[in-house]
Amino acid sequence: MTSKSYIEQVLRELKEKHAEKKEFIQAVEEFLPTLEIYLDEHTEIIEKNLLSLIVEPERLIQFRVPWQDDKGKWQVNRAYRVQYNSAIGPYKGGLRFHPTTNESIVRFLGFEQIFKNSLTGLPIGGGKGGSDFDPKGKSDSEVMRFCQSFMTEFQKHIGPDIDVPAGDIGVGGREIGFLFGQYKRLNGYTAGVLTGKPLNSWGSLARTEATGYGLVYFVQNALKDRQDSLKDKKVVVSGSGNVSIYAIEKAQELGATVLTCSDSSGYIYDADGIDLDLVKEIKEVRRSRIKDYIDVHTDAVYVEGESVWTLKEAYDIALPCATQNEIDLNAAHEIAKAGAKIVAEGANMPSSKKAIDSYSKNGILYCPGKSANAGGVAVSALEMAQNSARLPWTFEKVDSELKIIMKNIYIVCSETASKYAEKNNLMAGANIAGFDRVIQAMISQGLV
Ligand code: NDP
Repeated sequence: MTSKSYIEQVLRELKEKHAEKKEFIQAVEEFLPTLEIYLDEHTEIIEKNLLSLIVEPERLIQFRVPWQDDKGKWQVNRAYRVQYNSAIGPYKGGLRFHPTTNESIVRFLGFEQIFKNSLTGLPIGGGKGGSDFDPKGKSDSEVMRFCQSFMTEFQKHIGPDIDVPAGDIGVGGREIGFLFGQYKRLNGYTAGVLTGKPLNSWGSLARTEATGYGLVYFVQNALKDRQDSLKDKKVVVSGSGNVSIYAIEKAQELGATVLTCSDSSGYIYDADGIDLDLVKEIKEVRRSRIKDYIDVHTDAVYVEGESVWTLKEAYDIALPCATQNEIDLNAAHEIAKAGAKIVAEGANMPSSKKAIDSYSKNGILYCPGKSANAGGVAVSALEMAQNSARLPWTFEKVDSELKIIMKNIYIVCSETASKYAEKNNLMAGANIAGFDRVIQAMISQGLV
């Protein structure tokens, strides 16, 4: 059997089993075909049918989360954890609290997480989870009661050497703090069971910044490799959450002008450059909506109900940092028309398959999320190391480790791309390099 026909067979079987899980199928369909040349060289993967093994999660947990709202009404949400692959370390990946969370989303995120974690070069397997609970509009007490109930069940399945969750959309320091408190109440103080913890509870300095900073470090390396830099570049960012805020901060620090940010209600365009202190105040302190920005900056524009990817101004770099599939083919065309030369993904799978296919045709360097947003999980692994050693590191130490990790990820993706495809095909580079480490570990560990 050829590599191509084997990949097609695995995909066909997967689609038959999971026809309705479109995000999950999309993630696997983007991934497997890029392995073709690698499989030509490693035929034992086909002989042992290892692709069928790797697309199947080791474990998938679903549970209900009962909780009481402020009016005394009983509520229930559904929660998931996919413990996808532990070949190179304990399962590691965030928890997402968003009403759209379902099994398809959790599977796609978990599948991508395996290879992202592998690219960091650190000992972490792949997992992901979350709930359809929406923290937006809930009081702190409601969020606390939800988190406590979530952890009462979830604690049975995690541990510092088993599965180490962190944050994702809707799960930041507040939620991780409540989850950690409940875990501690039930099991005793176990710092390494969660990452992204508040600093007063053995969280790591620079973890909050890590995904956004790491994304910009990745772009910086890609530009440097092409004798260019971020200085005076115009950058468009989507979202205004954790990843967006710190991507904006680092891009500005390195001399770029960031023109936009957004939330699910609309976007801000500020030709003078986004006022990040104001965005932090609106999103992190007030927990309000991004449209408040124009109350202060009356020259900026707020475009209600539109995606930032409809913007008709010229810019150089696109950093999608909100959510999956935010860039469809039309949006990708707008990005190309704006003159962008780089799309680097802070979010997970923000580009549709058709959008990705259009990038290279339009001369855009595509930096896939698996590689470009791996800084968050990398620093989470550094938080685990600090927790095991019971020693905190300085911000500077964590940040300098992050820079090294992002540089190495860029190099391994670029070199692997050159070997199996062509230098600019960072998607093939990321997929093959991430896959190689995991699959070789799986082969040495036997059929388990
Ligand atoms: P946050 O919850 O902090 O922020 C999410 C941002 O994206 C908000 O501005 C939110 O707007 C916007 N958003 C969410 N859903 C939608 C939607 N359907 N349409 C338009 N805008 C939307 O999440 P993070 O910043 O942590 O995560 C953002 C992305 O980065 C996700 O894809 C996540 O998986 C990925 N990621 C996160 C990492 C981390 O360390 N946090 C690590 C690696 C990847 P609104 O408030 O209106 O919902």
